[in-house]
Amino acid sequence: MSRCLAERSIDHVLLERGEVAHTWRTERWDSLRLLTPNWQSRLPGFRYDGNDPDGYRTLPEVVDFIAAYAKSISAPVRTHTTVTSVRSAESGYLVRTNRGDWRCQTVVLASGACNIAQVPGFAARLPPSIATLTAQSYRNPDQVADGGVLVVGASSSGTQIAHELQRAGRAVTLAVGEHIRAPRVYRGKDLEWWMDAAGVLDERYDQVDDIGRARRVPSLQLAGTPDRSTLDLNVLSAIGVRLVGRLAGIADGKAQFSGSLRNMCALSDLKMRRLLDLLDEWARANGLDETKPPDRLPPTRVEDSPPLGMDLVKSGIRTIVWATGYRPDYSWLELPVLDRKGMVRHDGGIVCAPGVYLMGMQFLRRRKSALIDGAGDDARDLSAHLAAYLNGAARLRA
Ligand SMILES: Cc1cc2nc3c(=O)[nH]c(=O)nc-3n(C[C@H](O)[C@H](O)[C@H](O)COP(=O)(O)OP(=O)(O)OC[C@H]3O[C@@H](n4cnc5c(N)ncnc54)[C@H](O)[C@@H]3O)c2cc1C
Repeated sequence: MSRCLAERSIDHVLLERGEVAHTWRTERWDSLRLLTPNWQSRLPGFRYDGNDPDGYRTLPEVVDFIAAYAKSISAPVRTHTTVTSVRSAESGYLVRTNRGDWRCQTVVLASGACNIAQVPGFAARLPPSIATLTAQSYRNPDQVADGGVLVVGASSSGTQIAHELQRAGRAVTLAVGEHIRAPRVYRGKDLEWWMDAAGVLDERYDQVDDIGRARRVPSLQLAGTPDRSTLDLNVLSAIGVRLVGRLAGIADGKAQFSGSLRNMCALSDLKMRRLLDLLDEWARANGLDETKPPDRLPPTRVEDSPPLGMDLVKSGIRTIVWATGYRPDYSWLELPVLDRKGMVRHDGGIVCAPGVYLMGMQFLRRRKSALIDGAGDDARDLSAHLAAYLNGAARLRA
């Protein structure tokens, strides 16, 4: 957004509570690599120019990449500046920070979609002897006591953490709710390549039937590893991870699992087949049908009668890792723009308060909006709207 505003000569400042790329420096586990290939993190006027376009950035590489971008565009960032409130003021907004106040006509909310790890309320009923972590506070297996671990959530964070812990010698049980299975490589190319080329990631928010639902769809079960391997539930069960249904509650020290595991897996297999069918169709229509034949993964294997309950302490569970999603933190936003779930009400990033914009949310304007690669197109659109808003406001004043 900063780069797009600068192109339009719009005077602006970026307020950042930490350093540039703060979330990547402080809120991810050590072994995390981007699940999007290097070529895919395209930012306005900046793209990967190394010799491994199909590789996946490590955490330090992501930090370097974002810091290099900020430097290359001379982004006017004020680091260690925490926004403590944004409220309406005469002709615009008053932004309070720990380092003084700002007055402005427009505000872009780019504070991230994943500020708080979501943990279900029944977590409070866990036996006190069980340690808890979230995908945000988990760093590496050294943090986790020997013995059993229950990882809750089987999207990209949960599957990656379950994989790492099982391989580090913990006995992992994975509670599986709705998830989206995906092969890392399909017909010789990265799945992200196919989705990008076929325009799946460019699908717009005003083209889908149910945008509310589309914005809640969990992340693809993908991981970025040097060997470009698929990480799905079959891979996890093959190394000894035990699959159970969605964690539905905790009572008297017992975890209660939903009986829907088989259905969840069948649904996920079906959705994967549909996505791959769509990509095959696109390949046919674009003369790529001859490249490599379709290579479909076998159905997800589920044990005949997965347990519906588990006494956590007796089963040796010593740690729970909540990988149950994230949500934004707007505790500092004093504008009447939040819905009853605490999410900002907006139309493709144009917030229901004049001159206020939103960035970085799931399916904000396009399917790729919450990816690094999605920020550029959204910023181009929203900066155009913002410029028109400022012009209109200037005309009004004149
Ligand atoms: C575990 C995980 C893995 C991911 N993997 C990928 C991937 O492989 N590829 C990909 O493209 N995307 C990935 N993403 C999504 C990724 O987070 C986004 O693509 C990208 O970081 C969004 O950038 P952003 O600037 O919108 O938000 P953020 O990176 O969250 O940045 C928001 C910034 O706002 C600051 N901030 C928040 N509140 C305040 C305040 N009150 N005052 C001042 N500053 C504040 C924060 O410190 C932070 O630096 C992943 C996300 C997670 C959680």
